[in-house]
Amino acid sequence: MTFDASTPFTYAPAPESRAVVDIAPSYGLFIDGEFAPAAGGKVFKTVSPATEEVLSEVAQAETADVDRAVAAARKAFVTWSALPGAERAKYLFRIARIIQERSRELAVLETLDNGKPIRESRDADLPQVAAHFFYYAGWADKLEHAGYGPNPRPLGVAGQVIPWNFPLLMLAWKVAPALATGNTVVLKPAETTPLSALFFADICRQAGLPKGIVNILTGDGSTGAALVAHPDVNKVAFTGSTEVGKAIARTVAGTDKKVTLELGGKAANIVFDDAPLDQAVEGVVNGIFFNQGHVCCAGSRLLLQESVADEFLTALKRRMRTLRVGDPLDKNTDIGAINSAEQLARITALADAGEAEGAERWSPECALPESGYWFAPTLFTGVTQAHRIAREEIFGPVLSVLTFRTPEEAVAKANNTPYGLSAGIWTEKGSRMLWMANKLRAGVVWSNTFNKFDPTSPFGGYKESGHGREGGRHGLAAYLTPSTPKGEHHG
Ligand code: NAD
Repeated sequence: MTFDASTPFTYAPAPESRAVVDIAPSYGLFIDGEFAPAAGGKVFKTVSPATEEVLSEVAQAETADVDRAVAAARKAFVTWSALPGAERAKYLFRIARIIQERSRELAVLETLDNGKPIRESRDADLPQVAAHFFYYAGWADKLEHAGYGPNPRPLGVAGQVIPWNFPLLMLAWKVAPALATGNTVVLKPAETTPLSALFFADICRQAGLPKGIVNILTGDGSTGAALVAHPDVNKVAFTGSTEVGKAIARTVAGTDKKVTLELGGKAANIVFDDAPLDQAVEGVVNGIFFNQGHVCCAGSRLLLQESVADEFLTALKRRMRTLRVGDPLDKNTDIGAINSAEQLARITALADAGEAEGAERWSPECALPESGYWFAPTLFTGVTQAHRIAREEIFGPVLSVLTFRTPEEAVAKANNTPYGLSAGIWTEKGSRMLWMANKLRAGVVWSNTFNKFDPTSPFGGYKESGHGREGGRHGLAAYLTPSTPKGEHHG
């Protein structure tokens, strides 16, 4: 075959096989080690956002189911919290190894239910899920050396509510530290992505985890509300929108429940004129288009130093033209499906508002599939700080570009948001990185990189991005009560 330089390379389809995962037509709730229908008998469907195909039907948990799950977790807490840490660790290591063994199956499942590219579920989500269990397994027998006193105690029953953007990873962030510290769990996955949590229930059984330690309740916001309000829940861990986070804060105010809230974000990715531009373009693309921009710490505001703005935007557009949008199960896909029709409507409304308010909209030419929920990667220039697309979290593949002249102006603009989850700095100058990192009101600041995660590193927000930290040694604090005299038992 001769090489014709005038024809661009094309990709042959490279689909991952969905035969590696066996999804049942229906699932019950996982309570006290058993799958069972909801007390009220209600069910809802979960669909593949890429095709709108119904994947399965799952139970809608109600108050009576929440009561049953919390009671099972309370009972299991007595023995689980009394186990030596080294014994708890064995279960967590076993769970971590099973996740690794079943990672291809779980990656395909996650991609089917969520719409994210298989390349990401396979190479980012699943390795991180296993890493979290390995990491916290390692802490289980070392808690007295974690810096929380000589004999830190678990809190009791943790009620955990998670979103749909990283379903299994958010479960791992919540379940691994809770179990390592001796707490038991009732977890509610998001209504559009319940399946990986139900597969995780099966993994708990496979690992021989005694019943009642992990309970999974599928359902909508009303299930989550009943769980966090339950009087016998000692700890609430929530990841989701700021609006729901505020409602949860109101519910638990005045109770002695411990709470962590991981909420929204509107991160600034700040590019200085001395930055390595090609590297920065990659980081900006990763920052906003990874996981379709359904990322709480997404770099959704690009702040460009005025002197390099034109050159940078030309390079960014060139790079965006190469992004492949389409079948999430294709190994060459960069941008998959938007998770739900509701989320697509939210993104569309905010992008329309951007245009209506006078920002300039640009997308590369790309054919979107006919069925399913899709949104082309989108760039807005001429954005001012007053525009809604500069202030509100879009949670989609939409980047708002602003410019600045001085580092002081960059800091002022980056911090001009009610959120404070993450930020990115692109510059060759080490002193400027440190100066900026000190001034930025964000829980995580990345320098010359973006979206880097590691279980050893704490993650969390300032201001309306929430409070408390998950990950690392700091993540243990949320599940422990400071040391009590030896021998005295809580719960
Ligand atoms: P959401 O707040 O609508 O839902 C999150 C979860 O809360 C779901 O399981 C939902 O059923 C449940 N829920 C809804 N109403 C509830 C209520 N009144 N009481 C208790 N639970 C309730 O958010 P979403 O749309 O699923 O997720 C997107 C949001 O999550 C974004 O704003 C994003 O920034 C945020 N997020 C934050 C982080 C982080 O670590 N900070 C990580 C991922 C997502």
